[in-house]
Amino acid sequence: MASNSTMEDTSLSEKGSHNETGVDQAEKKVKHCFSEPWEDSDVILVVENERFHVHRLILSMNSPVFKAMFKSQFKEAMANEIPLPEKNASGVLDFLKIIYGFQYIQERVEITMENVEDLVQLSDEYQVTQLIFDPCVKFLEDKPKTKDNVMKILAIADLYNLEKVHQCCIDLLKNMRLNCLSETVHLQDLDKEKMHYYLTQRIERLETVLDQVYPQVFGLVGSLMWLLRESSIFVSWCSSHVSEGKFKTHRWLEIRECINCQGMLRSMVDATCSSSRYHKRQIPRHGLAVHFNEKLFSAMDDLSKANG
Ligand SMILES: [Zn+2]
Repeated sequence: MASNSTMEDTSLSEKGSHNETGVDQAEKKVKHCFSEPWEDSDVILVVENERFHVHRLILSMNSPVFKAMFKSQFKEAMANEIPLPEKNASGVLDFLKIIYGFQYIQERVEITMENVEDLVQLSDEYQVTQLIFDPCVKFLEDKPKTKDNVMKILAIADLYNLEKVHQCCIDLLKNMRLNCLSETVHLQDLDKEKMHYYLTQRIERLETVLDQVYPQVFGLVGSLMWLLRESSIFVSWCSSHVSEGKFKTHRWLEIRECINCQGMLRSMVDATCSSSRYHKRQIPRHGLAVHFNEKLFSAMDDLSKANG
């Protein structure tokens, strides 16, 4: 409800500012609780030709910046109308609704992806911290990050130094494949520093994964080897590098150079794949649609090389 009316406000006021018939446009604006004087309102905020009738006391109680403004010797202290240039009317409307709260305007404003940018900007500028800024930060932290919203959230995070929000966004980006990342951050349009940052995050992520996966794969192959031996399944063991079903070395480079090890790994794959040329019946075969196959050797080779 609130977001519908605020979106309409924005489009109308935008049209109005570029149009000779701005007055007509203004008349069509959606009325809201601040459109007219009410309950002894004593000051008017003017945003994008829209007028918000508000109360100095309520603004002062919620914002130290408004408080200082009204108490100062500046012209705003006495003025009946205070222009807020470069502000967005729909954002100011939601900002005021939250400040006034349900008890005065019988309306609750939710923080959404549409209004959060304005609310963060206004609550930062007018120092409405606990009531608006902090809940906006919480909203940005909790909002599930997607390919579609992550760059908007990241931009807000970077503008207001929201470290945790920034990190959540980077966590999503660094898990994207390169083509998806490129599309999302528009890599080709970025300056060198930004491009370097995103790519470094991605590469570091992959290296972390490699660090974890490489020893695990090595370990799994070793476990399988031991299991096959314990089950008395025929495998052509390499006596130089294997002892009692266990690798004697953790260095793949040694194994890849060894003809016997190559044959051993191949026979292990054969012994467990349904396409096996061995027709042992001692163990169940795990079917065709698997990746534990003759590519094991080159996969381990690549893993080892990519792992430095
Ligand atoms: Zn060997």
